[in-house]
Amino acid sequence: MRYISTRGAAPVLTFGEAMMTGLARDGGLYVPESVPVMTQDQIAALAGLSYEDIAFRVMRPFLGDTFGDDEFRGLLARAYAGFGHAARAPLVQLGPNHFLLELFHGPTLAFKDFAMQLIGQMMQAALAKTGERITIVGATSGDTGSAAMEAFRGLANVDLFILYPHGRVSDVQRRQMTTPAEANVHALAMDGDFDDCQARVKDMFNDFAFRDGVRLAGVNSINWARVLAQVVYYFSSAVSLGAPHRPVSFTVPTGNFGDIFAGYIARKMGLPIEKLVIATNQNDILDRALKSGAYVTDGVKPSISPSMDIQVSSNFERALFDAYGRDGASVAALMAELKTGGFTISQGALQFLRETFASGRCSEDETRATITQAFAETGEILCPHSAVGVKVAADHQGATPMITLATAHPAKFPDAVQAAMGVRPALPPRMADLFDRPERVTRVPNDLAEIQALVRERTAL
Ligand SMILES: *Cc1c(COP(=O)(O)O)cnc(C)c1O
Repeated sequence: MRYISTRGAAPVLTFGEAMMTGLARDGGLYVPESVPVMTQDQIAALAGLSYEDIAFRVMRPFLGDTFGDDEFRGLLARAYAGFGHAARAPLVQLGPNHFLLELFHGPTLAFKDFAMQLIGQMMQAALAKTGERITIVGATSGDTGSAAMEAFRGLANVDLFILYPHGRVSDVQRRQMTTPAEANVHALAMDGDFDDCQARVKDMFNDFAFRDGVRLAGVNSINWARVLAQVVYYFSSAVSLGAPHRPVSFTVPTGNFGDIFAGYIARKMGLPIEKLVIATNQNDILDRALKSGAYVTDGVKPSISPSMDIQVSSNFERALFDAYGRDGASVAALMAELKTGGFTISQGALQFLRETFASGRCSEDETRATITQAFAETGEILCPHSAVGVKVAADHQGATPMITLATAHPAKFPDAVQAAMGVRPALPPRMADLFDRPERVTRVPNDLAEIQALVRERTAL
């Protein structure tokens, strides 16, 4: 299995190399040269297996010889051992033919744990073979950083630095980043907003002397290994509702397009997915683009579903690559145009995208109303992101079973949930002491040189 860049001008890599590289050198994203297809019998045989066994069968063909079979089984076992539910990704029913896939039973209560826990194990295993060390630097508006801290804490060959905007993440998110005690993970509270944090991380990657000196690597949502790990729960949930004999549809609360792109890969692998619905909040560039053909940025409007507040969706580039017949030069030209505010999707590509995805948007008022209504009708407390999905799913419900992805636990966003329905969601018992654990955090100014000096000092290079 080989991986190529969506912009067509970067080295072709193995799975292990693509995982360690993250962003391709031509600025593109790595995708598999071809997607392995599972037969109907192979999909049917997944029924009744554990989540880890399904993950093994779904992911194995993408890995090449990066890991041996037993080794990979061991990594999967370690990645998901810390989840608070034996099914890992349980399905609950919301209404006739509408199901909720609860992806929030991981250690930081958001779906990002599924990918982050596994990429932590995979990177450590790959590094241990050569004795190399790497430094991972990431910026977060909340969920990615906490998932990364949990996944990488205590790993022998990795140092992790997470920059978050000081005073602008929720208390739960902050504590999940500042309470891990292991010396290899570092929470940095930066003066500025999320865009400032992201800009400083980008600066560090563009400073090649620094990048090579500390062996910088990234684990943001464009990393192919993260997308791949998310393909698994599309299979596990669809099979438990009768796939491949019965098709299903999915609605996915979408920000950077990583999660829904994993659903697209599942369909390419042969899973019978009828509709794949993109659900956006008021930051609706994807919904507008599918409806009008114009992919145009419009600033970020802060919402009560903050993990979906994006200006552009980085992983959408992977869908465009297929929509443009896998022509890297076309994608590179579009991305250059995007820097000046946007582009018009060609007729052929737009037709491909409309045949592949449906989409809908959910306003702030509709998000709150959906939280209230779902609780009244089912007793299920939705986080605001999941509520966006449930609302848009209802608009697309047909005769095929609809599965909406619940991307975070409501207790991660208690203020928004309480404002909507008057009840403050409680943290699961295994996390109830989060507010008693000591915090460890370093305040840093919005200053590249100072942050680099701190990273160098802590990695002792
Ligand atoms: C990251 C995140 C999303 C968006 O997922 P993408 O893969 O970026 O589209 C949605 N909900 C929650 C809770 C998240 O943390």
